[in-house]
Order: sequence, then structure tokens, then C-alpha cells
Amino acid sequence: MPPPATVRQSPVINLDRGDPSVFEPYWKKNGGKCTITISGHESLSYFSDPHSVCWYMEPELQEAIRRVHRIVGNARTEGYHVVVGTGSTVLFQAALYALSSSSAAVAQPMKVVCAAPYYSQYKEQVELLQSRLYEWGGDAKTYDDEDKTAPFIEVVTSPNNPDGSLREAMVANKTENGGKLIHDLAYYWPNYTPITRPADNDIMLFTLTKCTGHAGSRIGWALVKDVAVAQKMTSFMQITTIGVSKDSQLQAAKILQVVADDCESKAGAFGYGGDDADRTFFGECRKVMAGRWEKLREVVKGKDVFGLPKYPKRYCNFSGRYFQPAPAFGWLECKEGCDASALMKANNVLTRGGETFGASNRYTRITMIGREEEFDCFLERISGIHCVDEDKDKDKEGEEGLVVILDNNGDAHRGNGDSNGHGNWLHEVK
Ligand code: PMP
Repeated sequence: MPPPATVRQSPVINLDRGDPSVFEPYWKKNGGKCTITISGHESLSYFSDPHSVCWYMEPELQEAIRRVHRIVGNARTEGYHVVVGTGSTVLFQAALYALSSSSAAVAQPMKVVCAAPYYSQYKEQVELLQSRLYEWGGDAKTYDDEDKTAPFIEVVTSPNNPDGSLREAMVANKTENGGKLIHDLAYYWPNYTPITRPADNDIMLFTLTKCTGHAGSRIGWALVKDVAVAQKMTSFMQITTIGVSKDSQLQAAKILQVVADDCESKAGAFGYGGDDADRTFFGECRKVMAGRWEKLREVVKGKDVFGLPKYPKRYCNFSGRYFQPAPAFGWLECKEGCDASALMKANNVLTRGGETFGASNRYTRITMIGREEEFDCFLERISGIHCVDEDKDKDKEGEEGLVVILDNNGDAHRGNGDSNGHGNWLHEVK
């Protein structure tokens, strides 16, 4: 009989990325409907719609964006200007520019804050060019204690990446001079979370990446209330990239039209609720996400090593049902004193550690939107990890399989069952 596979020999599972391959099976079945043809005489001009603030935006895309929001009910679009970007990443920068450059007081860079745990890229993007307009101000909770006389920007991500929580502004609404707000609603779609109300914030960022899973199309959009802000965001796009690929915009428009048609064709006499909603793109994808969460919770349940956030059921206006959120990321918590991503790494699972998100390294983020095979492999891998008290379980030494030992700093080491005086916990992988 071959020797049992150890972690050292097992393949690396990469759950660090937020690459949305989870919806690939759906699109393999239904993707044919999204085919478009672009002839050689198209896409010659920079311009698309001279009547729109965002002059490089294809009218079909704007129409499809508004239609999908109307159907899903996750954001108001009447009275809003649409600004399109190469993913919502660039629109975040455009919004920072628009808000900070129109501020009367530019003597000091405006602080940009977000409650921890926050999406790790905000800090990187804010700091990248060392702008004189804005600078990273860190955790909004800590900023709450500071003297907030100068204008600042608060980013609200809801549902949040990494922990899936539904969020409201933490400091901006409490201050007299009013912090400015950017709402990143990338995950406010019924495939991840109940849609409880149409969002109506000043600047709302969305992206095709998380809505339909088409990260590679690089299409995001902002719904912006104030025309001056929308104009500034558009000039940021004009100066940095002179617009957004028309080919991508047309493909994105088609994908959103297909999603909208699908919803409308399945709408029952009373709207999109119930079984009808379950058979739409969003309903099908929600089932997949909920299935993954169920499996993950099952594996984690029996272990005293890990914990996961609990999400209450809420009524979803789109689905006409109560359901629990099934976020795009699992925010895995480990025991006190344990470095969660180091533990995962020791088991050949790559995740993104809590510190990257301004949180403790007891947490780590695992993607729930990767490929099925990888996710199942991960479940199998972590189901082999268990936590034993080193003093009580001396007799476990020498058991087959790899043992992961955490030292007193919480760093994970690989071992072979010999505890050798390291730390308090042994994590064994079979
Ligand atoms: N906001 C959040 C919260 C995200 O998680 C992501 C993608 N990981 C983005 C924005 C950016 O998405 P994209 O640039 O692909 O549109």
C-alpha cells in the first residue's frame, strides 16, 4: 500500500484570489445567448454618447445597467448619473479624485477611512501614487475618536469584503462638516445577499465582476447623484484612459440584457418572487453559493479550531423569500494566539491573512467564488485538521499524516507528530 499522502505532497490550493469562476458552469450552459459580433467599422471613435455626462459610455450599456437595477431592486437609478469604468477599481480612484479635488480645503490631504476589516485594495490604491489630495486614514472605528474638523472620505463596503457584514457609514454621518461617502456595493446582488431595499447613496460602485462573474470584461459602473461629482469622475477617466473599451461595454451590455431578459421571462404574475426568482441567473447562483456555505459550515462545525461569522436571515425583495447571506468570502477565525493564514499555509492552502484587512491575524479570508474542484479539495483538506491539546494528547504523536504545530507566537510549523515542546496545539492533517 502506498504511504498516506502528507500535506507536503498535496497540491497547493489557492483560495487567496477573489476570481469569480463559481458562475462558470452557469455561463457554459447559457453563455451562447451573450454572443455579439463587432464589425471592423465599429469602435473607431472615442465618443459614444454626447448627451451623457459620461460621454464614452455606450447607450446600450447605460440602459442595461438601469434595467437590471430596476429589476433586482438593489439601487435607485432615477436621478443618478452613470459613470462607467474599467472595473470598479478605477472608479474608486475616480471617486477619490472627484471628492478630494472639489473640497475647499486642499491644504492637507483628505483622510480616507474604512471600518476594519476593510477590502485590502483600498489602502493600496490610496497610497499608490502618494497623492497630495488624499491619504490613507485607516480604520474608521479608530478615526471616530479623532478630532474630525477637516473633510474626510469614508468608504462603506456592503456586503463587506472580507467578512460579508452589511454595513452603514460609521463616522461620516456623525460629523458636523459631514464626511463624504463612497459606497462600494460590489456584492449587493441577490446571488450573495438578500436585497432588503434599493440603495440610494451619493456614490454607489458596482461591478460586472461580482454581479455576473465577468471579471475579465473589466466593466464597472458608478451611480452618482451629484452631476458635478459625475463630471469630475468622468474627467478622471478621460485624463487617465480616455474612456473604456467599447467592445467590453457592448459585451457587458449584452450580458446584462440576457440576465434582465431571463429575470423578466421568469417573472410570475406577482413579480420575481418565489420559484420564479429561484430559476433566474441570480437564483441559480444563490443556490450554488448557499450550497458551498452549507458544506463549509458543516466541516467547520465539528472543530474547535475554526469559527465563521453568523448571518441572520433577511427578507429578500427580489426573491420573495427569507434567506441567509452567502458571501463571496469566508472570514475564518482561529483560536486566540493562532495565525490563521499561517495555519492554512502549513496545510498548503493559500488564503489572505487578517492583517491585510486591518484586522487580527487570527482571521483569514478564503474565497468562496473559485472553482468547484478547488473548493471541494479545500473542504477535504481542512476536514483533516483538528486541534488537540498537546499535554492531553501525547499519545497522538507518531500517528500517520502530517501534524501542524503552532508555536507560542501562533506561527504554524510543519511536523511529523513530534511535538518537541512547540506551543500549545497540534493540528493534524490526514
Ligand atoms: N470592490 C470590492 C469590495 C471588491 O471585492 C472588488 C473585487 N475584488 C472590487 C471592488 C473591484 O472589482 P473590479 O475592479 O473587478 O470591478
